[in-house]
Amino acid sequence: MTVELRPVPGHPDLLEARVHDVEVGAVRLEVTGGLARMAAQVDPTPGLESQDIVDLVLAAVARAKEGGANEVEFHCESLLLRHAARQLGLGGALRVPLRARIDDIGRPTPAGTTVRGSDQRARRSWLSATLNELGVASTPARPSRSLGRLATRLSGGVGDTLDVVVEWAPGRTFTISVPDRPDIMPEGVALTADTAAAVFRRFPDQANATKAIHFDKAEHGLKSGRYAGVAQLSVPSIHLTIGFVTTEFFIQMMQPRSTGTPRSSSARPSSPYIAVDATVAHELWHQIESAFEARHYALGMELRHQVGLELGVQTLEHAVKGASPKAPPAWQSAYRRLAAEVSPYATTNAREATAELFKLWWCRNGPPAPVVARFGELVDQMLPPKAPTD
Ligand SMILES: [Zn+2]
Repeated sequence: MTVELRPVPGHPDLLEARVHDVEVGAVRLEVTGGLARMAAQVDPTPGLESQDIVDLVLAAVARAKEGGANEVEFHCESLLLRHAARQLGLGGALRVPLRARIDDIGRPTPAGTTVRGSDQRARRSWLSATLNELGVASTPARPSRSLGRLATRLSGGVGDTLDVVVEWAPGRTFTISVPDRPDIMPEGVALTADTAAAVFRRFPDQANATKAIHFDKAEHGLKSGRYAGVAQLSVPSIHLTIGFVTTEFFIQMMQPRSTGTPRSSSARPSSPYIAVDATVAHELWHQIESAFEARHYALGMELRHQVGLELGVQTLEHAVKGASPKAPPAWQSAYRRLAAEVSPYATTNAREATAELFKLWWCRNGPPAPVVARFGELVDQMLPPKAPTD
């Protein structure tokens, strides 16, 4: 085992995790009445590998056992750590702590094909079955014809894919396509499916604007790591970074960016929602908005007008133009509120503003910021919830 846990002086529950004498993260461990409550975090560390994450969880479990625990409850929102814990035999639904009896926690099955299946068809079934275990009803997608498959391979930039179909209402589906790689994290796929299905159930009339969710490198921004997601308004699909579903690229995504222009930061969702939920909500809003504007253009303008009024200006466009020192003072203060209550990225333009507003409204837990709450009210008025029809 390469991970060493060291006590942190003055903090009896806290352990520092080190790999080859480099600090890589921390573990919080509390054992009461045979139950170990464990939490962990990993820092962006050069050279960090997914095996280190597995070893970190194992080391924490060993420490819990020494402390007299016979059961472990793992409180952690990092997909990477949860994936490692699941590989070791901890289990549980999405967005809740994982649990296991301590004696059932063991070495992971060796990376390879025994569990995932030896051919693509078996691996597709494996992914679908794993999603079902995580509470997301899915079926393996029928393999596409060879020409279509070649086109997908060439355009996605990730080689062969595993595709599953998620039915979010009777007869209404979308597909999720992930790279066929040994380091797939099914929980990232399941969260994506879960959030997308919930959004579609809320906006059934706009759901046809997204028939496919691709984890790939189809777009330049995804390839370079600049964006976590891209909505393609001309076709019914969104593209998300493979960092949400593969350990290698998740670790890469954690590292501070060394090249290129820094991206202005987007909004962080409230727990238990995590970055993948937030990005799915953001990209789906682009599709929903363009679908409803195609039918009701005036409604889109009215939405931006009303959000603008909440910010003290006539329209959201004035708020995003408020960065200029020559802008009227009301525009400047609206701009500052948008950046503070939503995110710096929301000030990019009005479309990004509404996508960021939607994301915070969707991924909320407790009362959101005033402008987010107002946006949610407006959405509920203009696009009231209804039962799905085809
Ligand atoms: Zn966007």
